[in-house]
Amino acid sequence: MASNADEPVKTICPYCGVGCGIRVREGEERGDMNFMPWGDAPVNEGSVCIKGGAATQVVDHEDRLTDPLIKEDGEFREATWDEALSRVVDEMESIREEHGPDGMGFFGSSKTFNEENYLIQKLARRYGTNQVDNCTRMCHASTVWALRTSLGMGAMTNSMADLEDSADVLWIQGANPGEQHPIANSQYFRQAVLEGATVIQVDPHANKTTESFDIEGTDRHMHLQLEPGTDIPLLNVVLKTILERHEAEPGAGWIDEEFVDDRTKGFDHLTETLEDFDKQAAAEECGVPLEDIELAAEKYARANDAAIFTGMGMSQHTCGVDNVQNEINLALITGNLGKPGAGVNPLRGQNNVQGTCDVGAMPNVLPGYQLVDDDEARESVEEVWGFEIPAEPGLTNVEISHAIGDTVHGLYVMGENPIMSEPDGNRTERRFREDLGFLVVQDIFMTETAELADVVLPATTWAERGGTVTNTDRRVQRMRGVHKVHENTRHDLDILCEVGTRLFDEGFDFDGPEDVFEELREVCPIMHGMTYDALGEEGIHWPCYEEGDEGDSYLYEESFETEDGLGRIEGVVHQEPKETPDEEYPLVLTTARLEEHYNTGTMSRRSPTLSRQEPENFVDVHPNDAERYGIEDGDEVVLRSRRGEITVRADVTEDIKEGVVWTTPHFASASANRLTNDVLDERAKIPEYKAAAAEIEVDIEPADGGASADD
Ligand code: SF4
Repeated sequence: MASNADEPVKTICPYCGVGCGIRVREGEERGDMNFMPWGDAPVNEGSVCIKGGAATQVVDHEDRLTDPLIKEDGEFREATWDEALSRVVDEMESIREEHGPDGMGFFGSSKTFNEENYLIQKLARRYGTNQVDNCTRMCHASTVWALRTSLGMGAMTNSMADLEDSADVLWIQGANPGEQHPIANSQYFRQAVLEGATVIQVDPHANKTTESFDIEGTDRHMHLQLEPGTDIPLLNVVLKTILERHEAEPGAGWIDEEFVDDRTKGFDHLTETLEDFDKQAAAEECGVPLEDIELAAEKYARANDAAIFTGMGMSQHTCGVDNVQNEINLALITGNLGKPGAGVNPLRGQNNVQGTCDVGAMPNVLPGYQLVDDDEARESVEEVWGFEIPAEPGLTNVEISHAIGDTVHGLYVMGENPIMSEPDGNRTERRFREDLGFLVVQDIFMTETAELADVVLPATTWAERGGTVTNTDRRVQRMRGVHKVHENTRHDLDILCEVGTRLFDEGFDFDGPEDVFEELREVCPIMHGMTYDALGEEGIHWPCYEEGDEGDSYLYEESFETEDGLGRIEGVVHQEPKETPDEEYPLVLTTARLEEHYNTGTMSRRSPTLSRQEPENFVDVHPNDAERYGIEDGDEVVLRSRRGEITVRADVTEDIKEGVVWTTPHFASASANRLTNDVLDERAKIPEYKAAAAEIEVDIEPADGGASADD
């Protein structure tokens, strides 16, 4: 069929939270989507990484779901939309009748747009439950919790652009932007270093970020290669060093006393927590020389402006909230908040994971982080929506999975793939397969989760529809679609409107994404001043309270958004990961993503360019461990934890510390999440993906064909 699209459309890369602008042009044939750079895109000025350049490859992939499917006798058959939607609505109604509204769970998706996530959380709440969540639970729930509780807002305090002219030190902990946020790293961080900034990288793994700061003619990069799970002791050494030096040289700029006095509370708690803290013992526990940590502390504290960037190496622990709180402590005592080139800045994962949280697709907050158990906030939203919102926060997504067959009997999954993304994947799969009464999945491909569904609803891709997404530094940007590749697919927004209208008659009758956005901004104070017109091509950083506001590139210039306006300092103490090595499982397993793939790989594994670059999973093993276990580089090995095993290729490298093995979650048959532990941070409920006990051995009987990667 001939294309209707002559001109390329300006939109946003569907992969990571940097939010690079790209253009998409449809070729002669419908579905023939081509990538074009967008030279003056606000975030990236035309540059893209390998994923951005390959993003259009999956739009017309042969695996696209093209028609609704209903499972009968264990097999899918094609169905009409009316049949499929009737089944969804009937099942949801009968679950509510039998088990009450908390019998259903709803998963929003950071791959979908603000408008769609706004609708799914509204649908859940109209159904009568706050059991709606999204994959931020897996990546930065602890970061959002700590930032919201101690500073007021669950987002980056600053923006990438304000680094350029002002940051003297970039403190990057538990993040690997060289691999996972490549344009942020090349365009902003590396640029800052070329202009004189120092990078302090804190990470157990030497990686592409480490390589990227090996810049000829500069010597402004330190890598503190700590043991996994020792971030709190390391930061406590930093904090104690600053406190000691301040005591020895008061007024010499180690601590910003005026800032601490006027804008924070809890400083005494920090000093008491660290009073008997033994720096030397802690440094040994971290596996980093004490003098290196002290030097890093000096560089950070003595900088005029120092910015912290924090990643999933910090957040994905059972002490994730405390990890991030300690970064906040560091920024607060040195006055590195409320000004350009500073702050505590989570590098968010998927392209709209920030927005998915902002619009309320979480069990404890309504749009704009208004707490569901705050009567006043709830009533203000109820006034617009016209129905009562339950006051009790719901279960988080991992808790929902844990409750399957007990209190949860049905799940509505939009664009997520929990079978691969949740920890302890074998157990998650068993629960979905055996104990879940009804599962509807709305997606573009037959994911590992969709295979277990009762109804599959075929959605459109990012390149076929319009809406907005919010990048890692709170910039809300418009996405623009070409048009549908497959006639019988539907946009997520249209599907949700139809389901909502069939269930409730009213409240879901919207005329496209802009109409939804208009209601969203009415109930979401931090986006209240935004309109589609005002967003234009540049986008706007939230908070944007009134029309005409240009948004803030950095937060908290005058005060924090806490009840008393003060930033909260709170000393924290080391907690070990919940599972540590023992005789049976003597290694620490840690996980992370690759530049070439994204999360569960639903899109990236189907891109010829990306899968050619990284066709299969592997595990990094230190040479001493390799020798101990008789492993040669390239051997097929079995990596095992208490929860399962995967077969992968061994990559013997000194990039990893002895005693630690490192692998990825991207590949279906060999995903790290078959091994990871599903214990949760008590407050934020994020799983401990970053530390589990494991063992490794050479695969004596290779599987058929020997290949271990996804197929
Ligand atoms: Fe896309 Fe992120 Fe790469 Fe930019 S850095 S092109 S947003 S994947």
